[in-house]
Amino acid sequence: MTKPIILMDLDDTILDFHKAEKLAISRTFRELGVEPEEKLIRRYSEINAMQWKRLETGEINREQVLVGRFELLFNELGLEISSKRAKALYESFLSQGHYFMPGAEELLESLRGRYRLFICSNGTAVVQAGRLKSAGISPYFEDIFISEEIGCNKPSPEYFRRCFRRIPDFDQNRCVIIGDSLSSDILGGIRTGIKTCWYNPRHLPGIEGIVPDYEIGELEQVPELLQRIFC
Ligand SMILES: [Mg+2]
Repeated sequence: MTKPIILMDLDDTILDFHKAEKLAISRTFRELGVEPEEKLIRRYSEINAMQWKRLETGEINREQVLVGRFELLFNELGLEISSKRAKALYESFLSQGHYFMPGAEELLESLRGRYRLFICSNGTAVVQAGRLKSAGISPYFEDIFISEEIGCNKPSPEYFRRCFRRIPDFDQNRCVIIGDSLSSDILGGIRTGIKTCWYNPRHLPGIEGIVPDYEIGELEQVPELLQRIFC
C-alpha cells in the first residue's frame, strides 16, 4: 500500500508565526520612525487577522491584505507613511528568521520516510521561501504548495484540487490535513473530502459547522494519531 499523504499547514502549525510576526512588525515600525508600542502591535495584529479572514471569504485579494492592513492602520492613527514601503520592509524582516512550534522539529523527524509530507500554506511566496530556508525543513517535504504560487487560497476547494493534481498517485482516502485554522485548513479539507486534524494548542473554542475529524493540543500526538487513522 502507498504511504499516507500528510498535508501540513506552515504558520502556527510548524513555525511560530505569532512570534515571528511580532518581531518583524516591531522592526518595521522602528525603521519607519514609529515607536513599536504593545498597543500598536496589537492593533496591527487585529487588522491583519481581519484582512486574512476577508481573503479567505474571497472579499478582498492578496494585495489588499498585504498593503491594505498597513493602509488601514496608518489611516486609523493619522500617520502619513507609505503602506507599500511598510509592506516591503515587513516582508523582508519576516523572511529573515524562524521559530518552531513546540515539538515541530521532532515531529518532522519522526514522520520522515513513513509518510509523504507536503506543505499547504496561504503565505506569500517570497516570505515563505525565506522562512523555509531559514528553518532548513524543505527536505522533509515532497512538495510545497504556497497559495500565491498555486493561484488561489485555502479554504477554496480549487486550491486543494490544484494541490491534489500536483501530488503523484494522489489518493483522497489516504490523505489528512493538519493545521491550526478551522476556517482555512479544516474547512478546505472538509470541502474536498480528505481527513482533517485540527491542531489547537491554545484550546480555542470550535466554530459551528466546521467540525474536524480529529483534534489535538500538541504536535507530539500526531504520530500515534496517524498510526490510528492509517493502520
Ligand atoms: Mg496556520
